[in-house]
Amino acid sequence: MSSTVKIIDSAFSNVAKPANARSVTPHECPECDELAMDLLPYSFRGIPGERLDAHFGDLALLGPEGLHYYLPAFLAYALENPDSCALEFAVIHLTPRKGSLDARPEYFSNRFGRFDSAQRAAIAAFFAEVRHRQLYVAHEGELDRAAELWPDAVQPFAAADGFAERRV
Ligand SMILES: [Zn+2]
Repeated sequence: MSSTVKIIDSAFSNVAKPANARSVTPHECPECDELAMDLLPYSFRGIPGERLDAHFGDLALLGPEGLHYYLPAFLAYALENPDSCALEFAVIHLTPRKGSLDARPEYFSNRFGRFDSAQRAAIAAFFAEVRHRQLYVAHEGELDRAAELWPDAVQPFAAADGFAERRV
């Protein structure tokens, strides 16, 4: 386990596992049901890599509770398998454009506002490793937005940042 993966693992270790499929994926459709059923048997640490790989593009299907609990699995898998699509999709999911943030502040507040300061720092560590190892070629400023949304230095979010006030 790399030091970044350890930071991620430890930061999210206090998150309660969602109790049922609807808490993982609030939307009811076959695709969301399949994702929930594939993840629910496992703790975030125990999901087989091939399941994460099969769902690389599905972070947006996770509800706030499901994302809070299972995001660290996707981040760790992405760092350990940087050639998989999981890396690209994790980066994109965590770096919404300002226009998206402004258009749906509650959506992002519900999703990202759940992360405590240690979890935000872990996400910043994820991006620091992505930059350091040059794992991701930004096409549309994703890494610049990551630096703004998930700063290395922990400081309160300004209201203008578009999602929840940082809990310190
Ligand atoms: Zn669905």
